[in-house]
Amino acid sequence: MKVVVLTGAGISAESGVPTFRDADGLWEGHRVEDVATPEAYDVQPTVVHRFYDDRRRALGRVAPNPAHLALARLEEGIGDDLLVITQNIDDLHERAGSTRVLHMHGELRSALCRACMRRTPWTGDLGDFPPCPGCGVTELRPDVVWFGEMPYEMDRIFVALDQADLFVAIGTSGAVYPAAGFVQFASGAGARTLELNLAPSEVTGLFDDARQGLAGELVPRWVDELLG
Ligand SMILES: [Zn+2]
Repeated sequence: MKVVVLTGAGISAESGVPTFRDADGLWEGHRVEDVATPEAYDVQPTVVHRFYDDRRRALGRVAPNPAHLALARLEEGIGDDLLVITQNIDDLHERAGSTRVLHMHGELRSALCRACMRRTPWTGDLGDFPPCPGCGVTELRPDVVWFGEMPYEMDRIFVALDQADLFVAIGTSGAVYPAAGFVQFASGAGARTLELNLAPSEVTGLFDDARQGLAGELVPRWVDELLG
């Protein structure tokens, strides 16, 4: 059975990673258009770098939770038949032990060169404008997908959704496209669909089945069912 899992902010929030939008509509006190658009970067690169540098450093203060660990256990059990697609830019899936992870919105621990387009693993800061290890030009930006930019890996994602027997969305709001459309695509291609979320999302009605609760409780239980 081929399983495709989509994870969103909800799974990381239980590890203490701030969610993309707080209740006040801000992202850690910033308006989204001030830190998460190419235009913002063109106007205020230092502000944007400081924001992502802070978030990259904060990764050292959080750890994978039981939901991340359960997905790594599922990969141990079914191997190549599992693909995790994440909207999250943290590295908690990898640190839990998952290896088959697609970061459709990019990664904090990666830098993208605007001169040569090379993506380089990056754990330090970018706000001091270091040179690109590939071409030497000082055009490294956070390797995250901003508003108005194309998400990564869409071809591979749609092939996987097309072949999936089961599609499971974990901790996603159902408000951000294209990910919000994955359930309809997978369902149309014949997959069963399941939503695991803290509360009903904007697309809960499109899933065959939905469970509400903490990811740290729902995901290990679901993995037990699947492997059992
Ligand atoms: Zn370069």
